[in-house]
Amino acid sequence: MGKIEVLDNSLISLISAGEVVENPASIVKELIENSLDANATSITIEIESGGIERINVSDNGEGILKEDAPLCALRHSTSKIRTKEDIESVRTYGFRGEALASIASMANVVITSRHIDEQVGSRIESKAGGIPSVSDAARPAGTTVTVTNLFENVPARRKHLSNPRVESHRVYETVAGHAIIRNDVGFRLIRDGNLAFECPPNQTPRDRVLCLWGSDIAKHLIDFQHEENGVVISGFVAKPPISRGNRGREYFSVRKRPITDDRLSLAVEQAYSTLLMKGRFPVCCIDIGLDPKMVDANVHPTKREVRVQDIDKIVTMMREAVERAIGKASYQEGKQNTLERRRAPSESATETGKQGVSPTSMGISAQQKTVSEQLVLDSQKLEPDILETMDEIQGAFRILGQFQNLYLLVELDDNLLLIDQHAAHERILYEQLKSRVQENRIPIQELLEPLVLELSPPDKERILDISHELHELGFSVGNFGGNEILVSTLPDVFGSRATREDILAFVDRLLEIDLDSARQGFMDSVMRITACHSAIRAGQGLNNQQISNLLTELLRTPNKFNCCHGRPSILYLSKKSLDKAFGRTGPEAIARFIQRHGHPP
Ligand code: ADP
Ligand code: MG
Repeated sequence: MGKIEVLDNSLISLISAGEVVENPASIVKELIENSLDANATSITIEIESGGIERINVSDNGEGILKEDAPLCALRHSTSKIRTKEDIESVRTYGFRGEALASIASMANVVITSRHIDEQVGSRIESKAGGIPSVSDAARPAGTTVTVTNLFENVPARRKHLSNPRVESHRVYETVAGHAIIRNDVGFRLIRDGNLAFECPPNQTPRDRVLCLWGSDIAKHLIDFQHEENGVVISGFVAKPPISRGNRGREYFSVRKRPITDDRLSLAVEQAYSTLLMKGRFPVCCIDIGLDPKMVDANVHPTKREVRVQDIDKIVTMMREAVERAIGKASYQEGKQNTLERRRAPSESATETGKQGVSPTSMGISAQQKTVSEQLVLDSQKLEPDILETMDEIQGAFRILGQFQNLYLLVELDDNLLLIDQHAAHERILYEQLKSRVQENRIPIQELLEPLVLELSPPDKERILDISHELHELGFSVGNFGGNEILVSTLPDVFGSRATREDILAFVDRLLEIDLDSARQGFMDSVMRITACHSAIRAGQGLNNQQISNLLTELLRTPNKFNCCHGRPSILYLSKKSLDKAFGRTGPEAIARFIQRHGHPP
């Protein structure tokens, strides 16, 4: 007997549902898209326990016709396409007729809906994987979908859900991701009975950003629009220094459908290039408007990715549009000049040579040039070594000074130590924090005037979410109403000179911590960031006493050879390696000595 069998329908649903229903956020995404397809102008999303306990999405859209009610939760039932041609130019978010069926196969679902042209509405109720029952119901025109008992019939899936805080955050990002793109539609998100945000319908793109991200970002936005061959690239980008430590605030959409695409991200990042520091990412929201025939939305089960014709051209267009928007051209000219001035002598000599000015006319003879080039080459051979243990280096240290207000130069035995003042101090503070947290005795400083900081709603709520952990580290952070938080104490390592900007920058970094990491990892990230922000900066002048205090601390600190991000904090040059680089040792030096003195050294 053969081994192959055609699976029964409920099993097929369960398998394909796995692709669509990943977590509460993916359900919310599908329900919002259905509301948008029904031309709703206002959508309310309510969740409990991150959506694990309950999701409720309610809209004022066209509603479902009574005769369609029994069909809407069946697989491959859709009102959005009829023919093959329709798939080739999809104008709606949905078209696969899978979402409601998938959700209903993994959770209990109740849909109440009334079509605008009908007097009586319907109530469709189904238990996970069961057959839906339909009855009459009264409600204003529109649709409400309630999802409970998610994954109760698939325990393996339920186990894989994150904690409610993380799931809740994902839902937040999903709703905000749609809201930022569809500023014409009103969105309201309520979590565990609390209003997370509310954006009224028909906002200008700028007001929508203000509503979602707060005035700090909104103030730095540049709107732009660029049209070429029927493709419209439009949206806004934030001027540096507004940036993020990940791609979480890069929003792209194709015909207002949110998508992710590394090529688009890269194009925008290239447009910013040197305007952002390494490891920083732009804040932007960009839509690509084009003929639906040029888009194939049927390449990903949740339509997170789409295939766009001529994507290469669009990527180039996007890069150029963003470059123009942020005025990179003029900025780069300025930058070029300062770079030129700072270049090593040999390099700038060749550069100017290219421009028709000979090295001689600049006062450098050809011979001198080669000497200086040679010098540069030789000194490149002299690479300081990373200090990994103190075993080979001992004795009393003598402070020689500070180089570029950044590196401390210290003589220790016959070695020259080079210490990165920021990296070293960061390590000291981190180790201090760690042991104090373990002993539960973090010294704090009360701010004479508590600080009120305005944050965007998602940022505010993230900070309040982690306020318990922050408190353990000496930060008292509370809700001040509106978009504001109140900071009333800081750990004493933060130093009394911390300015408002310092604290805002610190808060910005806190927002980048992975909420999903285990508690230990989470606390550790906060401590690293605290240490980094409290440490002596590069560029800060230090006197010998301060340097000496820092060294004394550093020498008794564990893991002193690296900063807490893994960069080395101490390098050294041995006298031997200097002697060699200066030609004081080696066979040639001995030959020279003999020539001069008539005997070996
Ligand atoms: P799709 O969106 O791909 O058509 P769904 O399973 O998401 O598939 O929805 C099935 C059908 O149910 C839709 O085509 C639509 O006719 C109807 N429907 C679902 N949600 C709504 C809603 N909020 N308002 C009006 N009709 C809806
Ligand atoms: Mg749908």
